[in-house]
Amino acid sequence: METWRRAIADSITTPEELAECLGVDPEPLGPLVRRYPMRITRRYLGLIEKPGDPIWRQCVPDPLELEDDQRPDPLDEERLSPVPGLIHRYPDRVVWLVANECAVYCRFCMRKRRVGCPLTGGDERFWDDALRYIAATPAIRDVILSGGDPLLLDDEHLELILSRLRAIPHVEMVRIGTRTPVTLPERITVRLCRMLRRYHPLYVNTHFNHPREITPEAARACARLADAGIPLGNQTVLLAGVNDDPAVMTLLMQRLLAIRVKPYYIHQMDLVRGTGHFRTKVAAGLRIMGALRGHTSGMATPYFVIDAAGGKGKIPLIPDAMERRGDTWVLRNYLGETVEYRDP
Ligand SMILES: *Cc1c(COP(=O)(O)O)cnc(C)c1O
Ligand code: SF4
Repeated sequence: METWRRAIADSITTPEELAECLGVDPEPLGPLVRRYPMRITRRYLGLIEKPGDPIWRQCVPDPLELEDDQRPDPLDEERLSPVPGLIHRYPDRVVWLVANECAVYCRFCMRKRRVGCPLTGGDERFWDDALRYIAATPAIRDVILSGGDPLLLDDEHLELILSRLRAIPHVEMVRIGTRTPVTLPERITVRLCRMLRRYHPLYVNTHFNHPREITPEAARACARLADAGIPLGNQTVLLAGVNDDPAVMTLLMQRLLAIRVKPYYIHQMDLVRGTGHFRTKVAAGLRIMGALRGHTSGMATPYFVIDAAGGKGKIPLIPDAMERRGDTWVLRNYLGETVEYRDP
């Protein structure tokens, strides 16, 4: 068995195992993990320093997950799927949910309704249908593999998907969204990278949420991908009690650049059922953006976005930096000073 498969087989999935490792009461966790599955790799669990810390909050089930009355799919992903598992919301790109498994089930997951559950849309049965749809829709030039985590597929299945996508002339690029560099860095093998580099242009977006997730192993995984010529981006979710703090977020963005990962998005929490205890006020995100912009490398400054309900798309929010007065723009710099720019 490959090392990463063994790490998955060895991960924590039951309240009893969790109780053994963390000394929590397993009793209330039973119904919770039957509803929303738990999986924590031993490596990720090992990053916990104390109860309720930023790593703990992301992976240990919380009874509050059952006390939230939001909708399971506020972004209408199911309605926007012409084929199960294929979300076609924007004109020129699709998200394809090719896997339902992850190395760690993040408690704040926006696809909480389906990750970890077998036999929903990402199922292989629908791969032919999804590929047929993409091939028959020339407007699609960008395919984003997501899930679940696409890198929980083995190399052979992943290569099958990539090669079949590459055979479609109008698919100009493929992106893979994965959290394995954080939760299962051993997945990024030399063999995997050797396979991936044959399918350029290929982009990988990682998912780091806290500076402590940037371990030497995670850094090595990212280096391997980058050395295979794959540009790396990062999508962070803004999470209460995890990273809703300008200093933490600044450090995270800077450390990501140091491992050759370009911060791409900071996501405001979606209004997804079961994730209410992670939501922050919009002002918290704006404060973070204010602390980043101009104060550190422009490359460390991602877009802060709200994914609009009903599948209306991601909308970037910028702390008020400009105002128009006639043909003059009043601009505000990072120190809060205003400067006028007269339209030519
Ligand atoms: C986020 C997302 C995309 C990709 O958006 P980009 O801004 O191009 O990264 C595409 N489709 C769906 C449904 C998405 O949620
Ligand atoms: S890795 Fe991504 S898809 Fe999987 S549980 Fe975490 S947020 Fe959800």
